[in-house]
Amino acid sequence: MLYEPKHVALCIDEAERKIALDFSEGYKEFLNVAKTERESAAYAVRVAEAAGYKPYTWGQALKAGDKVYYLNRNKSVILAVIGTDDIAEGVNIMAAHIDTCRLDLKQNPLFEKNEIAYFKTHYYGGIKKYQWVAIPLSLHGVVILANGEKHEICIGEDENDPVFYVTDLLPHLAQDQMKRAANEIIRGEELNILVGSMPLDDSKENAVKKQVMKLLNDKYGWCEKDFLSAELEAVPALKSKDVGLDRSMIGAYGHDDRVCSYTALQAILELENPKKTAILVLADKEEIGSMGNTGLESAYMRYFIEDISETLGAKPRVVFSNSQCLSADVNSAYDPTFSDVFEAANSSFMNRGVVITKFTGARGKSGSSDANAEFIAGLHSKLDKNNVIWQTGELGRVDLGGGGTVAAYIANLNVDVVDVGVPVLSMHAPYEVVSKMDVYMTYKAFATFIK
Ligand code: MN
Ligand code: MN
Repeated sequence: MLYEPKHVALCIDEAERKIALDFSEGYKEFLNVAKTERESAAYAVRVAEAAGYKPYTWGQALKAGDKVYYLNRNKSVILAVIGTDDIAEGVNIMAAHIDTCRLDLKQNPLFEKNEIAYFKTHYYGGIKKYQWVAIPLSLHGVVILANGEKHEICIGEDENDPVFYVTDLLPHLAQDQMKRAANEIIRGEELNILVGSMPLDDSKENAVKKQVMKLLNDKYGWCEKDFLSAELEAVPALKSKDVGLDRSMIGAYGHDDRVCSYTALQAILELENPKKTAILVLADKEEIGSMGNTGLESAYMRYFIEDISETLGAKPRVVFSNSQCLSADVNSAYDPTFSDVFEAANSSFMNRGVVITKFTGARGKSGSSDANAEFIAGLHSKLDKNNVIWQTGELGRVDLGGGGTVAAYIANLNVDVVDVGVPVLSMHAPYEVVSKMDVYMTYKAFATFIK
């Protein structure tokens, strides 16, 4: 009669517990090599090609069983497996995001002050700025020279690489700083990254800056002007690690939303000859509102589905209207240390499995797509039948804050959509925590959904 969610480990047998723990090993490796949207997109293409996926060209002929991918500007990817059913009956979509909160370099970043050279940054996504100081950072991205030569940058991930760093004030002199409001303890313009302290010569001005520029010029042929078009991102230079004596959790940068990206990717890579066409979109720009031509407010996913629908002889509007989507994104795990921000009966908990989030939004569900009961009930029973352990969740107590996902933009296409994902502790911090059991159950949920 009563609903009582349980710890995943108590719902599965020893053999499956081992499978669940092993699954996390691949995920931990992925976290270390795919820290940005570009690196994640490249990873997805690499593993997709290895699994037999071919690059999609607009209007190409398609038949059941075909596996194609579409790479959008190196920052978002769509994978699709063509099903045997008439596509007019709808497709199954999974949508996760591969961008993560970070510090972007400004377009004119390099400056020197008191014989120290710095990069100026502009933070990306909703961060607590004070968390991004006094930790090792690595630099990722692309620089394109005037001659068109493109350099992919990754400095600070190899054990022998130098790292970067934003300073904080020593407690001894922080009396005034500590009186600032928390969102001002570190201000946006104080997020300056240390890049050098050796002078090139004894010139009065910018001798250190010149030395930094000389190093970049010698190694890559860069001039200062090349920064103006570059996309460089500073992220924590931290590796994923097991957390806890029992190793039940994973600590890493960027679980939001690489944990759903990886689990959904694994699910579609293993999919053979589905009835319904399965589509995975790994989107960019979710953390800043899904804007831009690589975010899901853009039409690229719609164009892709329209294109394959027309090729397979169906009206796109009919396909969308019959389609279902799991908007794959994380939720806030109930944190006993900060229990007052949660409402326990409707929060997601670590280790209770994949979270189904009917609605997000702020205040009176503002900005939420709020999934339909009929759709969710069908999903619940499908998961139950396949022994997927799931729970429901809401992002904190009413009127406290809120958030959104890509669900609303997909719902705009008249697709049935609900948020599904992993509960995360310390979401948006430089190092976040998830449970291995939840990661595995989320993978299993995606695999069940597209099967
Ligand atoms: Mn997210
Ligand atoms: Mn987020």
